Amino acid sequence: MDLSDTPQEAEFRARLREWLGKVLPSLPAKPSPDDWPGRRAYDLGWQRTLYDAGYGEVHWGADPAVRMIFLEETEKAGAPYVGANFVGLLHAGPTVAAEGTDEQRARWLPPVLRGEEVWCQGFSEPDAGSDLAALRTRARRDGDHYVVSGSKIWTSHAEVADWCELLVRTDPDAPKHRGITWLAMPMDAPGVTVRPLRTLAGSNEFAEVFLDEVRVPVANRVGEENDGWRVTMVTLSFERGTAFVGEVVACRRVLGELALAARENGRWDDPVLRRRLGRLNAEFRALWRLTQWNVSEASEGVPGVGGSVFKLRYSHARQELYEAAAEVLGEGGAALDLEQPWVLDRLSSLSYTIAAGTSQIQHSIVAERVLGLPKGR
Ligand SMILES: Cc1cc2nc3c(=O)[nH]c(=O)nc-3n(C[C@H](O)[C@H](O)[C@H](O)COP(=O)(O)OP(=O)(O)OC[C@H]3O[C@@H](n4cnc5c(N)ncnc54)[C@H](O)[C@@H]3O)c2cc1C
Repeated sequence: MDLSDTPQEAEFRARLREWLGKVLPSLPAKPSPDDWPGRRAYDLGWQRTLYDAGYGEVHWGADPAVRMIFLEETEKAGAPYVGANFVGLLHAGPTVAAEGTDEQRARWLPPVLRGEEVWCQGFSEPDAGSDLAALRTRARRDGDHYVVSGSKIWTSHAEVADWCELLVRTDPDAPKHRGITWLAMPMDAPGVTVRPLRTLAGSNEFAEVFLDEVRVPVANRVGEENDGWRVTMVTLSFERGTAFVGEVVACRRVLGELALAARENGRWDDPVLRRRLGRLNAEFRALWRLTQWNVSEASEGVPGVGGSVFKLRYSHARQELYEAAAEVLGEGGAALDLEQPWVLDRLSSLSYTIAAGTSQIQHSIVAERVLGLPKGR
């Protein structure tokens, strides 16, 4: 198989590279990680810049090769990544595109692409994480509204979000996977309270979200009532299969920088470290191929369970990468120096084997749905 650029792809790459060379020098400085309103404005601004230049839809682009070139070139040029637009661009938007009505697509997708609205994900609850179908947030019908009460936890970007992809229980008497509905909830609706949570690294990226008799129009339901579990599987397929693919490019860049740093500070003479970096290089190359597969599947609909294979390997590789960074750059005092960007990245890498479904859960999915092993319970 020839994976090199076709003439059209090479032309797209050259055009994008030239454009990035022009726009990136005039970007405003990146706000501090804790300045969420500033980060929202910055991330939306970048999405708007992409949109105006005709690159706004690239994450949903029908052509997977173009998407991969976009990810490679923007990362190489040091362009911002999706940031606060993560949910809207990478899994709520694609879910609406795949499962929504024409009216819903027309209402919700353009503002995401134009960098006007931020989405968050209200799936997890205090007693429903790995066992997501155990969720208890209730929604009862009242005319043309659902009235929602309950609470969500670990809601990333909730503080700055306009919309929430929300899972609610609409039939408490049905088997637990059958009574769930997927709603788009406006975050400024009366009865929504957002209470930020602080992480190990001092960031307030998550929040608890409390819902007290929140009225959500029935028109905001994506899929049928009580068919939300099926829609959720679509969301999770995008989240696990393609939402992290841009980060693989960033990890490959970090690995290259580590190899250079090791050469400069003498650590390269250690054969064990060299072997470790070599193994990581092979791992990220394999992950890049897997991303091409998942993106290619997504361009024809929804990525398959290959997303769980990717998510499992990627989240571990990312942790190993930052373990290696600690070894190359020196653990010592720097390990707690949060001013060093790689230290924050190392701390946040710990969350990757939990976010979007833990590794244990991905192991079970791969065992049962990819390898066809019997259910282990
Ligand atoms: C950085 C980050 C961002 C997140 N953002 C969001 C967000 O925006 N929106 C959102 O809704 N959620 C979000 N989450 C929550 C995330 O989806 C959950 O943390 C995750 O699904 C695990 O659920 P839990 O925390 O309830 O752990 P639990 O389900 O309580 O699991 C605890 C441990 O038990 C293991 N375990 C549980 N059941 C099984 C089983 N059947 N077999 C084997 N092991 C098992 C788990 O693997 C884990 O190690 C985020 C989490 C992180 C870390």
